[in-house]
Amino acid sequence: MKRTLVTGGAGFLGSHLCDRLLRDGHDVLCVDNFFTGSKRNVAHLLGHPYFELMRHDVTFPLYVEVERIFNLACPASPVHYQHDPVQTTKTSVHGAINMLGLAKRVKARILQASTSEVYGDPEVHPQVEGYWGRVNPIGIRSCYDEGKRCAETLFFDYWRQHALDIKVVRIFNTYGPRMHPNDGRVVSNFIMQALRGEDITIYGDGSQTRSFCYVDDLIEVIVRMMESERGFTGPVNIGNPVEYTMLELAEKVIALVGGRSKLVHKPLPSDDPRQRQPDIGVARDRLGWQPTVALEDGLKETIGYFRRLLQDGAAA
Ligand code: NAD
Ligand code: UDP
Ligand code: UDP
Repeated sequence: MKRTLVTGGAGFLGSHLCDRLLRDGHDVLCVDNFFTGSKRNVAHLLGHPYFELMRHDVTFPLYVEVERIFNLACPASPVHYQHDPVQTTKTSVHGAINMLGLAKRVKARILQASTSEVYGDPEVHPQVEGYWGRVNPIGIRSCYDEGKRCAETLFFDYWRQHALDIKVVRIFNTYGPRMHPNDGRVVSNFIMQALRGEDITIYGDGSQTRSFCYVDDLIEVIVRMMESERGFTGPVNIGNPVEYTMLELAEKVIALVGGRSKLVHKPLPSDDPRQRQPDIGVARDRLGWQPTVALEDGLKETIGYFRRLLQDGAAA
């Protein structure tokens, strides 16, 4: 039985990862400061004999004994990571240093949840891992983008300098049940607006693109990456390469939810990437993985989840 630490384990992706690891027979330590995560996401695990929940902020040192570390702690939605940008950078950078220091002491394998944001507003399309990106170092998204870039730097320096067993995945837009209803990300916004019969807010003209991966597909490849051969460090792009404009996404959501929501346009936030699509050749070749859930099917699951939250009065 592997003792496995998941930082950010009470968040959207982290809680699904905890579920999966427990199913696979791990002894799971979930660490979270509940900034964007919630106890509700892991409430069903609290009685599990091999699940432990610890309130802790990864910007502070952590002394535990584990064999695997999945480092997911970091707010992921622009609204949340821009709320306290200094804390966002600290979480990525100090959090990475502390988790790497822990991995070094206990000789654990450690995986970093990096992001497609390391490519910034990309000129290379679709994005390949060899592309260095185009990131504004002083803009409103920089706390997240540069924090995650610096975390990658730290991972590769601990690998070169201390021979740590590292893995880095660059996650592209992912959605599904347990996203925070007021998260501010596009999928949760559009679904909540459609369910409440409110206007759907398109930022800019809606021609910008994203590629959306369903959470189950993403968790599968994160687990495969963690268990891949030693020395295969990545970075590896993980996501669903099917690309949509935000207008197309809005139309799909309205068609699936029904109702009378209309589209309204709001200003495009600064530094909002124009286009984003992963090249997943490396994940396909090295991990034998590709996404299996079509957007429409994943959206149906997600809509069902948000509908239940609204019925339970838990979507505040
Ligand atoms: P989320 O906001 O739901 O989860 C992040 C979790 O980290 C939350 O539970 C939050 O409370 C916790 N956290 C934040 N700061 C912390 C700190 N200092 N100490 C301890 N815990 C802290 O977001 P998510 O979508 O589940 O994202 C998980 C990870 O995956 C993040 O690192 C994010 O950058 C990365 N990622 C996600 C996506 C996506 O589309 N969902 C895309 C790219 C990268
Ligand atoms: N650290 C931690 N848990 C551990 C070991 C280290 O949180 O079990 C933190 C500690 O705060 C340290 C950081 O990780 O500052 C980096 O550790 P490392 O050993 O790389 O460097 P140093 O201790 O020399 O700063
Ligand atoms: N977006 C939008 N309406 C919303 C929320 C977001 O049109 O209510 C747009 C946003 O400007 C961006 C895209 O949707 O172009 C994806 O935004 P999100 O915050 O989900 O993720 P990220 O920009 O980090 O990829």
